Amino acid sequence: MLNLVIFGPPGCGKGTQSARIAKKYGLMHLSSGDLLRTEIEKGSKLGMQVNHYIERGLLVPDGIILRKVYKNAIGLINSAGIIFDGFPRTLIQAVMLDRFLKKKSIKLNMVIHMLVDRGELFRRLTGRAEDSGRVDDTEQIFRVRMRVYEKQTHCLKEYYSDQKKILQVSGMAPVEDVSAKIAHAIDHYREKNEVFSNVI
Ligand code: ADP
Repeated sequence: MLNLVIFGPPGCGKGTQSARIAKKYGLMHLSSGDLLRTEIEKGSKLGMQVNHYIERGLLVPDGIILRKVYKNAIGLINSAGIIFDGFPRTLIQAVMLDRFLKKKSIKLNMVIHMLVDRGELFRRLTGRAEDSGRVDDTEQIFRVRMRVYEKQTHCLKEYYSDQKKILQVSGMAPVEDVSAKIAHAIDHYREKNEVFSNVI
């Protein structure tokens, strides 16, 4: 299996890149944000619970997200691999993911950290707000999500750096160029079993 995590600030393009990588390498794309939005659309009990957090730009509690992700990941364990998009988002989630994978005797191979500067994130988000129809794509909620990212998610960089799994990718270039860089790093990993340590 080739198991990847992708994370970065809101609007960094991780959803787009995940879909492209999944297609290229035949991986299963597991997006925690999409799983939650599906529940909201269905109007399920879980959907109503999580909507409270999402519309405010806050993280859904770890317990809820862990249950939901595990339940979906279990069915994907015999696939070519999984790309976890938007999960983990807290240190606790990262530790729990490691435990989950260890129990299933599978490995997390690489963690893609997308780097995009704040001005560009803001431009993209205001640009996508009209099409996405997402309640959390507003200026005010964007600011909250940025703060949440910096406080709760950015620490994953250190956690996965210590594991020598982090690949830092600048997400400022056009979509195709960013995908090409990530693919190059994945191919390098598969050949040499090592993750590039410099920003690509
Ligand atoms: P984006 O990449 O645009 O920031 P996502 O689609 O990944 O957005 O997530 C949207 C929202 O769903 C988050 O702001 C958060 O409220 C919730 N969410 C998604 N994944 C997680 C997670 N792993 N832990 C907690 N909340 C999450």
